[in-house]
Amino acid sequence: MNARRTWRRSWVAILLLTPLLLSGCSVLQGGRLLSPQWAGLEPVAPGLYIEAGDDEREQARRGAELQAALARAEAAIRQAYGEVRSRPVVHACFTEACYAAFGGRGSVAKVYGDRILLSPRGLNWHFLAHEWSHTEMRSRLSWRGWWHMPQWFDEGVAVAISDAPEHSEAHWRWLVAHDVARPSAHGLRRLRTLDQWLAAVHRHGEDQNAQRRARGEPEIHPVYTAAGQALRPWLQHVGTAGLLRFIEQVNAGAPFDEAYDAAASAAAGKGQAVKAAEPTR
Ligand SMILES: [Zn+2]
Repeated sequence: MNARRTWRRSWVAILLLTPLLLSGCSVLQGGRLLSPQWAGLEPVAPGLYIEAGDDEREQARRGAELQAALARAEAAIRQAYGEVRSRPVVHACFTEACYAAFGGRGSVAKVYGDRILLSPRGLNWHFLAHEWSHTEMRSRLSWRGWWHMPQWFDEGVAVAISDAPEHSEAHWRWLVAHDVARPSAHGLRRLRTLDQWLAAVHRHGEDQNAQRRARGEPEIHPVYTAAGQALRPWLQHVGTAGLLRFIEQVNAGAPFDEAYDAAASAAAGKGQAVKAAEPTR
């Protein structure tokens, strides 16, 4: 555990004393989610705020669509974790200016503790389920478990559960066909801290998609998709029971890598081979 990681974790631990747990963005701006109505959002349902607008019918339509997306995301969380323990508050932005005002930049969605922020590009059940998975995972981890949970695993579970086309098997095949640099299975598992994860996202150009869109080029998501490639087969084979047992073991003090590999071996022992992400450059 390096000094930077220790510093970051300690910093987040201090933030936890407030109702917010930060996930890699501006504290001050993310903190605006604590008072969404002061920041230009309006409530449309319990736990759901949307960017204010003048057209009432349009606002009602957007609210109804988001409620349907929330129900689908909740079903995906329930299917993966067996039950839903977390109840995140959702904030939806319909403009990039709104998203940026809350600290969102470049990404599609964000989670600040139990508060989800959606950009105009993430107004669907996939990105709700992705961020909700982070909240659900956190709600099930002890302090110790959370401390030791690598970022690549948390992201991989979120990617696998949310089934977003942007991070799909089909996108992986497209990346391979176009020889886009991707993290190897081994390299992925070295992305343990949020800093390491964000550095890899930057290194692979995954934070340059706004510029690609502006140039009319396809987006690339090599790091998130690599995490999905690792976790999709793992989750499929260990199942809900295996995931919960794994979380229990990590909470009880089992080293993460040992517990992860043991869960995969146990599934393989039942006659199911866990396909590793292919070696990549
Ligand atoms: Zn994520």
